[in-house]
Amino acid sequence: MEKLQNFIDGKYCDPIEGQYIDNYEPASGKVYSLIPNSDAQDVELAVKAAEKAYPVWSKMSIDERSAIMVKLSQGIEARMDEFVQAESRDNGKPVTLAAHVDIPRAVSNFHFFGTAILHFASESHNMEGVGVNYTLRKPLGIVGCISPWNLPLYLFSWKIAPALAAGNCVIAKPSEVTPYTAYLLGKVAKEAGMPDGVLNILHGEGGGAGDAIVKHKKIKAISFTGGTTTGEYIARTAAPMFKKLSLELGGKNPNIIFADCDFKEMLSTTLRSSFANQGQICLCGSRIFVERSIYDKFKEEFVKRVENTIVAHPSDAMAKLGAVVSKPHMEKVLSYVELAKEEGGTVLTGGKRVIVEGYEDGYYLRPTVIEGLPFDCRTNQEEIFGPVVTITPFDTEEEALIMANSTQYGLSATLWTSNLKRAHRMSNEIDAGIVWINAWLVRDLRTPFGGVKASGVGREGGWEALRFFTEPKNVFVKY
Ligand code: NAD
Repeated sequence: MEKLQNFIDGKYCDPIEGQYIDNYEPASGKVYSLIPNSDAQDVELAVKAAEKAYPVWSKMSIDERSAIMVKLSQGIEARMDEFVQAESRDNGKPVTLAAHVDIPRAVSNFHFFGTAILHFASESHNMEGVGVNYTLRKPLGIVGCISPWNLPLYLFSWKIAPALAAGNCVIAKPSEVTPYTAYLLGKVAKEAGMPDGVLNILHGEGGGAGDAIVKHKKIKAISFTGGTTTGEYIARTAAPMFKKLSLELGGKNPNIIFADCDFKEMLSTTLRSSFANQGQICLCGSRIFVERSIYDKFKEEFVKRVENTIVAHPSDAMAKLGAVVSKPHMEKVLSYVELAKEEGGTVLTGGKRVIVEGYEDGYYLRPTVIEGLPFDCRTNQEEIFGPVVTITPFDTEEEALIMANSTQYGLSATLWTSNLKRAHRMSNEIDAGIVWINAWLVRDLRTPFGGVKASGVGREGGWEALRFFTEPKNVFVKY
């Protein structure tokens, strides 16, 4: 069986203790590779390599750094199919999704930040007749990047790219559930001319390698995307060491639909915003609130469309949904369907496993729509992170807002209306870091990305990310 390796100091290597964990293929439910279960010793090795590389990387001219990052981006593009197949196999997502979203986005992440750094500038503040202040933006040193399993290379590169562009050396850990594309990235970085030790990629469990990254004194910042509970732990652990923290956490996003929307467009986008990537996108709109006058029409047409949605093996070109990421995750999602029934909900469609011929042990679920639940019950408050949505009618804008803002989360929201005043008014009132009006998941890499409340602290994207990965220093010069 294939054994993945860590990528430290520009070389692939085994974990020091020789411990491995099983890597499952969600589509078949079978183990197909082994991944290093790294620990603090491996992190130490990576930190030593990064310390050695830091003076070279941080002092390299911006043009040279940029060129290496652009080459890295092109290196992924040149191996598009290898990365696409690997991502789909590791995660269970349809090949078509990995080909259209995940890997192209990883290419863009490196290209975007590799070129953004050429235009990054800092401020100066003139004090008339006194002197001038200018701000230097220095890299932080060694930084830690920890990412989740739902959009593996997409989110891994979303952190690594700005960190590297800003001149930092990186110790990165992908999710132990989806390590494969991060594993492939090492050789692409090497071929792009990334100096040894600048990018170190370690594999292993959160409580092992992840924890060791968070606790390492020489790692100055942690950029983390994952669950809110893990984020709380990381914040608690890293705060006494005064580390800079960027936390992108869970969501329970509202999708608010008014009667005056473009119904056809709303319906097809809502299908995507509910179930894309098997509903495993932190931005999926899992709570759908519909104005009462169109509730029955919406329910009928939406459920019909959901019933026609094809769940199949990820390599099937017709598959709209592939497999969810793991057996425990599938069981968690199904337990929420049971909870919804106990809470008085009616399952309108789905709610069960799908057996795909030839892949009987795969983790396939029917997309699920539930109605009849109060907005404040557990099903409507807790993140399920699977192909499950609830639909709830509302009468007034105020009522929709109260329900939308009722959870501990505040990542994103979607509004469907042709009333411009209402769209602006509500966008201003919704607790969320991102609001899409008559759209979903349209991303511009220059915009600030992140959540409020328990959905996170800090923002990624554009200048925000480059600011996070640099330390501002004020210099005053007297006239
Ligand atoms: P998770 O928190 O279990 O794991 C995320 C990463 O953290 C993994 O690499 C894991 O190994 C590591 N980790 C776990 N425990 C750790 C610890 N104690 N110390 C250091 N690292 C640790 O999350 P997940 O199940 O992989 O991902 C799903 C979650 O991610 C969902 O809650 C989803 O909403 C969230 N998410 C958020 C965003 C966003 O941008 N806000 C994007 C995608 C996913």
